[in-house]
Amino acid sequence: MDRRRSLTILTGTVLGGMAGRRNSRVLEAQERSAPDHTQGEISPEKLLLKDYRPKSIYRIPVTKISKARYPVIDCHTHPYARTPSQVEQWVRNMDAVGLEKGIVLTMATGEQFNEIRKRFSPYPDRFELWCGFDLARFNSAGFERRALDALERCHDLGATGVGELEEKGRGIGAPIGTEPASWHIRPTGPRPHPDNPKLDPLFERCSKLGMPVSIHVSDPPWAYEPMDQTNDGLMNGYTWRIPVKPGIMGHQALIESLERAVKKHPKTIFFACHLTNQSNDLSSLGAMFDRNPNLYADIGARYAETACIPRFVSQFFNKYRDRILYGTDMGHDREMYRTTFRVLETADEHFYIFDYQYHWPASGFNLSDSLLKRIYRENALAAFARARHLASA
Ligand SMILES: [Zn+2]
Repeated sequence: MDRRRSLTILTGTVLGGMAGRRNSRVLEAQERSAPDHTQGEISPEKLLLKDYRPKSIYRIPVTKISKARYPVIDCHTHPYARTPSQVEQWVRNMDAVGLEKGIVLTMATGEQFNEIRKRFSPYPDRFELWCGFDLARFNSAGFERRALDALERCHDLGATGVGELEEKGRGIGAPIGTEPASWHIRPTGPRPHPDNPKLDPLFERCSKLGMPVSIHVSDPPWAYEPMDQTNDGLMNGYTWRIPVKPGIMGHQALIESLERAVKKHPKTIFFACHLTNQSNDLSSLGAMFDRNPNLYADIGARYAETACIPRFVSQFFNKYRDRILYGTDMGHDREMYRTTFRVLETADEHFYIFDYQYHWPASGFNLSDSLLKRIYRENALAAFARARHLASA
């Protein structure tokens, strides 16, 4: 017999022993005012994990953040705003939450890049636009010349970096699994992995132009794990899943391919997206930082993935305090930004974020002021300055 059931029986026995009209009126009043806990009741045997929406019951500090403690540069956004008024709204949101600037990873070249550039041009101090690589003719003769020309043209139009190059196993720019391919470069034929020698001239040109490269490899490891009851990140892993089969590079192999590219081009600054998708193994990312001084990592869209191990993460961020970059990759909603600040700035515990993306609650990292300043802004500025310095060296 469980504890709740024995309490019910005990209460029933006591009430059953009472007599008289007065007691029954008290009982009726109690019944009217007591909340009906049976409404919406569902047994744990029937509740599906996807429907579980717990509310924290703990009376512990809850920090409301409306603005970041220090000015912020968001190193991982996309051209979410499709019209001039949407760009204006984005800037209003940035002002409201304390965002100084957004790096818009357009992934685009040519006329598409130019169109996005024009859309954001009323706010040159608030947005930097990064372009893509033109991989459309990767498998045709003349690829290198065309791709280098496209890069130079975007640079002349004002692109200050390249990204987001995205590689989930089939090559850069090739959609995979169930991911939406809305603004991805559409593939024609095989695509290169990051260390493909045909990309070397492009990465070298980025270094000469002082353009850092934002590159996403792989996905969180649970996207590769069996989709069963032991999968720690099943709630997202199930939809992000990557088919593990011949012809699709696996998680570790992708990270190694990225590192070979980073090593081959020590004068090119690389921003690895999403903590290289190693939220579960930050020590491996740390070892990559140790081996490659030209490598940085953004924390975009990995808040839920790290807020379950807050102490380890804050130690890691402290150890690599000059390599971690703030990023979002989740639209431009004010509450989204505020949630990321709460995770980074506060010691709040056991709160649920991002619409129950995972089955665990979040806890804040409680980062120091000096570390916040670095992650929010200073590291990005230092990386941009290094890219410019390496270009002139
Ligand atoms: Zn992204």
